[in-house]
Order: sequence, then structure tokens, then C-alpha cells
Amino acid sequence: MYDYLIVGAGMFGTTFARLATDAGKKCLVIDKREHIAGNCFSKETHGIHQHIYGPHIFHTNDADIWEYVNRFAEFNTFVNRPIAINNGKAYSLPFSMYTFNAMWGVTTPQEAMAKIEEQRLKLDREPANLEEQALSLVGTDIYNTLIRDYTKKQWKKDPKELPASIIKRLPVRLTWDNNYFFDKYQGIPVGGYTAMFEQMLDGIEVRTNVDYFADKENFDAMADKVVFTGKIDEYYGFQFGELEYRSLKFETEVIDVDNYQGNAVINYNSADVPWTRMIEHKHFDDSTAEKNKTIITKEIPDEWDRDKTPYYPIGDEKNTEIFKKYRELANADENVIFGGRLAEYRYYDMHQVIGSAMSKFKRGGFNG
Ligand code: UDP
Repeated sequence: MYDYLIVGAGMFGTTFARLATDAGKKCLVIDKREHIAGNCFSKETHGIHQHIYGPHIFHTNDADIWEYVNRFAEFNTFVNRPIAINNGKAYSLPFSMYTFNAMWGVTTPQEAMAKIEEQRLKLDREPANLEEQALSLVGTDIYNTLIRDYTKKQWKKDPKELPASIIKRLPVRLTWDNNYFFDKYQGIPVGGYTAMFEQMLDGIEVRTNVDYFADKENFDAMADKVVFTGKIDEYYGFQFGELEYRSLKFETEVIDVDNYQGNAVINYNSADVPWTRMIEHKHFDDSTAEKNKTIITKEIPDEWDRDKTPYYPIGDEKNTEIFKKYRELANADENVIFGGRLAEYRYYDMHQVIGSAMSKFKRGGFNG
């Protein structure tokens, strides 16, 4: 008998299991994949820790969350400074003085502001979609070069049909600061995410390759409470319909050079390149990387169906309405705690998932 059965060994489940175990509770963690760490999973090849489900850069402003992850790994000083390439020209992301300089040749914030002002979409209401949001934030040149086609590739939808909220994640600044994140703390766990998860799960019973739904009644009977981190619609038998996602395909190659693209993340923003970005894993953490070997991964957006990995929740009105119905059931379900990207149907960063697990654990599992 366990206090908690935790379905899913990703960031939410693992954090919850750790907190509960430290508080003297007995946990069983199960996962249908053959490995722990969810989409944070990393695998070592040629001394390089490959981010198998896409790049994961840890960042947070919260000292408690930073202190928590540092218990399980040493973090390096990696700072995310992505580059965006369109038609052979490189621009800095986030949108900063470096970007405005590459776009217009301007060198002062005043000149950059004047350029943006000249082409900015002026609205007397809130932007109604992603295109309006982008045009009112940065104007036509940046929209056409760095946003429009990248967004179409990623979502396979016209930016006019996408919610403005998607682009609110993209930082814009009038300084020569090309650190993508605003957060105080940032880094990559030295030795890989999987090793960090192994530490987080130290002393906790974990079973991988286990399908919860194939034996749900038996599993439920094993514990007082269930922590469910899978898809909330699946948990409730898709009774209100299926929540939609975007998926991704990854094409990975080992190349016999020391340095292939000179940066961890390079976005490809034009329509003629099928991938949205290319990752060179060793630039996240090169502490054990072999010389003259590198691993690159092209990230190609893909349609999602039930057999593919759900990456990005489609947060449009239709899906939000469906999710709300599932959340009502979840709120009334006293024995099950729902958490994480799939159960909360939210496009979460890692630190936000940890924050959610911490607060749900503190509140004794209340779902609201
Ligand atoms: N985006 C863009 N150009 C870029 C990077 C991002 O237009 O070079 C837009 C795109 O619509 C994307 C959104 O910004 O869906 C959020 O991007 P972010 O990089 O935050 O997402 P993630 O890295 O999680 O894919």
C-alpha cells in the first residue's frame, strides 16, 4: 500500500514524489515510457547529453525552485542566446538592439523605437490575434522576417487565426542584452537531465514500461491518492472530446566536426526551410563532449494524433472550452490530483511545473 500512486515520471510527478517522500509518505511512480524524466529525458552519446524531446533550458526567478533543483544537480552557467536565420542573414533573439541593428542598421534605442513606431500597427483595442499582436509590438519588418513564416510552420495556421497569447512569450527589449530569458537563475544540469531525475527519484519506487490504463483499477487500489500527469481527456475517456496538440519530428545526426553551428539553438525563420530550429546539443553542456564529434537535431513541426507525442497544447477557444469541462470533473475528484503540461493542458516551462507541484502538494492536492 502506498500513500500516492504517481502516474508519470516527468517533472510534475517526480517533484511531487520527492516532496511527498521527504514528508514521510510512501510513493509508487509509474510511467508508460521505458525511461524516467518525461520530455526532459536526455541521453548520452559521444559524451554529449542529447535532449531527446527538444531543448530544455532551466530558468526561474524563484529562489526556492532554484535551490530545489540544485539539490539534485550542479547547474552550469549556460545562457540562452538563440539566433534566427532568414535568407542567409542572422538576427539575435530575443528582439533586442542586436536584432534592430541587423534589421535596420540602427545603433541607439531612440532610433530603434522610431523605426518600430513608424511601422507599428496602431490599434485602439487589444490585439485580436497573433498577427495583430506581433505587428503592434514590433512592426512589419520584424513580423515579415522573423515571425510570420516561423509561426505558420510551427502551427500550420495563419497567424491571424492564432491567439495573441502565443507571442506574448517572445521578449522585446531596447537594450544590448541578448539573454533570452528575463529570469535571475538559468543553466543546464551538468551530466544531463536524466541524471538529475535519477537523483530526484532516489529511494523512491519507480516502474517504467507500465500502462496505467491497462490495469487502472488495480493501480488505484494500491494507494490512497493518485497523482495523474497524463492527458486529462484520456483520463476521462475522451467523454467531452479530444484535446488537440501540435507534435514535432526530430531528425538527429552525429557529425564528425567539433563545432557545427556555433550555437545551441538556431531558428530557421523562412518558409523554404522545413525545420523551425536546429539544436547543437554540446553547446548546452560541453563538459564531457568528445572532440571532433557533434550531434545536431532538426526540429520539424508535425500534425498530432493519438499515437504521437503531444508537445504544444492548442490553446484556442474550442480546446479551452473542452478543457474547462474536464477541469470541472477533476476539481470534483477528491482522490486524484492532476498536474503538469498534459493534465493541466498548459504550455508550461519546467520551473512552472515544479511551482505547480509544490503548491499542489502544499495544498494537499486541491486541483483548482
Ligand atoms: N516565434 C517566432 N519566431 C521565432 C521564435 C518564436 O515567430 O524565431 C513565435 C512563434 O509563433 C512561436 C512563439 O513565438 O510559436 C513562441 O515561441 P517560443 O520560442 O517561446 O516557443 P518554444 O521555444 O517553446 O517553441
